[in-house]
Amino acid sequence: MLEVESVESGYGSVQILWGVELSVQENEVHVLLGANGAGKSTLLKVLVGLLPCWAGSVHMDKEDVTRLSAPARTKAGLGFTSEVGIFPDLSVEDNLRLSSLVVPAAQRKDAIEAAYSRFAELRGRRRALAGGLSGGQRKLVAIARALVSRPKVLLLDEPSAGLSPRYVSEVVERLAELRGTTTLLVAEQNVSFLEIADTVSVLEGGRVRFSGSKDSFGNDTVLRDAFFGLE
Ligand code: ATP
Repeated sequence: MLEVESVESGYGSVQILWGVELSVQENEVHVLLGANGAGKSTLLKVLVGLLPCWAGSVHMDKEDVTRLSAPARTKAGLGFTSEVGIFPDLSVEDNLRLSSLVVPAAQRKDAIEAAYSRFAELRGRRRALAGGLSGGQRKLVAIARALVSRPKVLLLDEPSAGLSPRYVSEVVERLAELRGTTTLLVAEQNVSFLEIADTVSVLEGGRVRFSGSKDSFGNDTVLRDAFFGLE
């Protein structure tokens, strides 16, 4: 569903990504792990069209989207949630309604309804300001916003950012519910997200150091110890 080939990019004349390869199959959860500054956000920005791709290509559902603008990629089905991902001064409902503008008018109500069905706790808070919700619920609004736009592939940039461990567990649990029905690429430094992964990549210094199934990652003790000190 998402194929990233030999991607190079950076800021100004500073190269950050070096020949990045990534492949996410339909309805798979792919967790992109990397420490601070590894280049995860930079890669996601290239994938959604916020940063130019210097070399290489990005295909989604077999369509070459490498040169498409960010709005055109959204229309083509690429959903993105940044670390913040919400409009804090708008109500939950208005956050969802804004996202629904990218789907045909006749489908908007259903798309919002589907998000409330998935995240039932948001229905009762629909008139509350998104910025006033708990950390975990704010993340759910951000994820719900992305789902309302009915993406073929959903990219989440560090859903754990700014959350206490309790809320991280809550977000992991809720994302687990999307497994098998949603194509997800989750960029994270928090290894808790391995729980929901089908496949894993590890980015270090803008280069992919590992890519494979969660099981093969789990069996690679050298890599696990080197990067994450996992037991
Ligand atoms: P984090 O978890 O801290 O966001 P990350 O893996 O997402 O880490 P990036 O934000 O992609 O890493 O940063 C990769 C490198 O690019 C870092 O060295 C960072 O300093 C640099 N960088 C990020 N944004 C910019 C920018 N706007 N201009 C110049 N350099 C940048």
